[in-house]
Amino acid sequence: MASEAKVGVRRYENYINGEFCASASGKYFPVIDPSTEEIIAEVPEAGEADVNRAVAAARAAFDSGAWPQTTAQERGRILFRLAERIRKEAASLAELEARNSGKPIVEAEYDIADCATCFEYYGGLATKVLGFVNPVPDNAISLSLKEPIGVAAQIIPWNYPLLMAAWKLAPAIAAGCTCVLKPAEQTPLTALVFAGFLAEAGLPPGVVNIVTGFGETAGAPLVRHPDVNKIAFTGSASVGKQIVKMAADTVKRVTLELGGKSPNIFFADADFEAAIDGALFGVFINQGEVCSAGSRILVEQSIYSKFVEAMAAKAKTIRLGAPLDRETKMGPLVSRDQYERVNSYVALGKTEAKIAAGGERPAKFAKGFYVAPTVFYDVDNSARIAQEEIFGPVAAVIPFANEADAIKIANATPYGLAAAVWSRDIFKAFRVVKALRAGIVWVNHMQPTYVEAPWGGYKQSGFGRELGPFGIDEYLETKQVHINLNEQPIGWY
Ligand code: NAP
Ligand code: MG
Repeated sequence: MASEAKVGVRRYENYINGEFCASASGKYFPVIDPSTEEIIAEVPEAGEADVNRAVAAARAAFDSGAWPQTTAQERGRILFRLAERIRKEAASLAELEARNSGKPIVEAEYDIADCATCFEYYGGLATKVLGFVNPVPDNAISLSLKEPIGVAAQIIPWNYPLLMAAWKLAPAIAAGCTCVLKPAEQTPLTALVFAGFLAEAGLPPGVVNIVTGFGETAGAPLVRHPDVNKIAFTGSASVGKQIVKMAADTVKRVTLELGGKSPNIFFADADFEAAIDGALFGVFINQGEVCSAGSRILVEQSIYSKFVEAMAAKAKTIRLGAPLDRETKMGPLVSRDQYERVNSYVALGKTEAKIAAGGERPAKFAKGFYVAPTVFYDVDNSARIAQEEIFGPVAAVIPFANEADAIKIANATPYGLAAAVWSRDIFKAFRVVKALRAGIVWVNHMQPTYVEAPWGGYKQSGFGRELGPFGIDEYLETKQVHINLNEQPIGWY
């Protein structure tokens, strides 16, 4: 049976069929504050039995009871109530998010506000899902109706914990699906707090279920489960590939938001100050733990030396600190594993390129998974630090000769999530935009993300789109309905 929680450590529970519950095994695992390395909570270690219960609850809620009868208007109102509750609890949610993930409190506040906006957006969109009347050449009415796919399994990473949950839950609820969400093992807390808002907002039991556990033992059974109809996954490319294989046996709909090695391209005519700022923001926001991080910084030869120097000088002034300190611009990485992984890339980078900033553990921290903002330059695009996703505050600066060279280097990666181009020449900028093989392209900025606009990758960065009207489409099936208006027999035989 379940042991007692350690003194001072808050124990959270899973949320299945409208109730908070322990796992079948009674086991819990610790959740760490990455700035102190201390245990701040423990959460249930869900396994196959728990996943089966959660899927059964989601299946039953989809197939019978109140949810299938719920109108789009009612689903919209539920989403608005969830948004309102998130806004009301924003301060405590942001604090918990910052403590658990290591991100600066100011960034966590933006994330929580974005969560509320996401629920509001899909609350509005719930009543704007339109079908079609198909102009068939017969005395008939032909319709294309949109219907919810069914039970959605939603598996998310640790870099934007509640926001990734919002991106998946809000469109699913708007569409009329039911869900089983598995947060990342490192950052399950805000999702479990959010679970406590669901019933009060009017969501029937079983519509949203949240189970915490590990990828192999909770995520995989969820992906394989025959009663799950759709998988929405955000995470690494390597796990994404396994998900597609596992989903094939039961022909599930899959959307994948995977990683990237996104180019941030600077032409000599760009505003220099804005460019330096944009290069730093593009790669160091959220400690560089961003799927769309501009981790390859492509700089036109004529400004290259000046650019590297200015970027390195400013990188050294970025204020690292405790996540809850409002002056902090960069917190610790999320976990010891990630810290070691990123540091191994920093060591590798020293053998592959030159270093202009970072490369040492920041001296002022006795504890915590802090990595200094690191700038490598003279990086060859074929180097491992230019090809592999590091997912930490590590930039690879690469010179280019001209526009064609920039495009060639930018596209020379298996990934295609995002890219940015900086220039005051609108014609050049747009030529580059068209040539880039990426799902999101910014001009004279990098990273702004809006719930109204689609998000997702080309190539090995995944398929399907989240956010905007595209986001709800991924939770909808299309049913063709033919209504014959001829009252006579067909008359064929
Ligand atoms: P990850 O290891 O792929 O994990 C993502 C999620 O998948 C976690 O919940 C994980 O569980 C689960 N998982 C792991 N193995 C699984 C399996 N065999 N079956 C089912 N589920 C499994 O990625 P991460 O380290 O958490 O996050 C970093 C990665 O996410 C980066 O590559 C980043 O680029 C990507 N990312 C992409 C986007 C985007 O929008 N494109 C956004 C954010 C992050 P555990 O927690 O137990 O590992
Ligand atoms: Mg993982």
